[in-house]
Amino acid sequence: MSAKIIDGKDIARRVRDEWRIRADKLKAAGVTPGLAVIMLGDNAASQVYVRNKVKACHDIGIFSDAHLLPATASQADVLKLIDRLNADPRIHGLLVQLPLPPQLDVHTVIERIALEKDVDGFSLYNVGGLVSGGTVFPPCTPYGVVCMLEYSNIPITGQNVVVVGASNIVGKPMALMLMQKEATVAICHVKTRDLAQFTILADILVVAAGKPGLITAPMVKTGAVVIDVGINRLPDGTLVGDVDFDAVKEKASYITPVPGGVGPMTVTMLLCNTIQSAERSAAKLGIKT
Ligand code: NAP
Repeated sequence: MSAKIIDGKDIARRVRDEWRIRADKLKAAGVTPGLAVIMLGDNAASQVYVRNKVKACHDIGIFSDAHLLPATASQADVLKLIDRLNADPRIHGLLVQLPLPPQLDVHTVIERIALEKDVDGFSLYNVGGLVSGGTVFPPCTPYGVVCMLEYSNIPITGQNVVVVGASNIVGKPMALMLMQKEATVAICHVKTRDLAQFTILADILVVAAGKPGLITAPMVKTGAVVIDVGINRLPDGTLVGDVDFDAVKEKASYITPVPGGVGPMTVTMLLCNTIQSAERSAAKLGIKT
């Protein structure tokens, strides 16, 4: 059996087509959704991510506002800029590209972003909402994974899910979002003893460790759904995930490729969060869309 490939590019295109209609309705009512991105320094990966976000805004027809600050910018400068963008009615989503230079405190910076504009979903309030319900903005990568599963008609409720990786931006919110959808969830991390003992039980295996080749075919249950969030650049320049794709695809029922899997979904969900924020803002102003 060879797994069905979950085509992230195709799903992302379909999601964007749906949300473009919502953005167009807002624009027709006089509200153009706007996303502001603050980046510090010249980290090459961050530059690519910011460029992709600005391009995605352009493609779907929403306003983008990128602020590139020097790596030496002070915390006071960054907080002042956040305050200005918090108060700017053209901006419905605001994010600060991570990682930050060492002189900045990431929690202070993120908590300064107005709750109703925190489209990355990293604020404590949004994270708390993943536990108790009522999240304003789901974090984009796990939101993208849930969206991919739903578009592929893969049931989540009652499934055994194993998430490999427990970071604050991917693994933990991923586990919480799938738990809210009534999956039975285990989270594994670097200290997990005998990883395979967990992964072999998964109906849905989500891997976000940043370790190429971590998940091999014997670790995967026959017929499992395998979602590879990892993005790793090998010394020869090739981009791979955390899963041994060629071997695991012969055992899984569904699998995401890298590139072209979860990656295109992440930026798409950022657009969705921004458009939804603009819809909320319009509704507050009594504007009908
Ligand atoms: P991270 O902050 O480095 O977290 C990695 C997590 O994996 C940690 O919880 C770590 O455990 C765990 N881990 C590391 N080695 C492991 C091992 N051998 N066995 C089990 N668990 C292990 O990384 P991240 O930001 O979550 O990103 C994870 C990967 O996803 C990276 O490759 C990143 O590039 C990619 N990513 C992709 C997208 C996308 O849009 N596709 C978005 C974000 C991230 P400890 O907590 O114990 O250290």
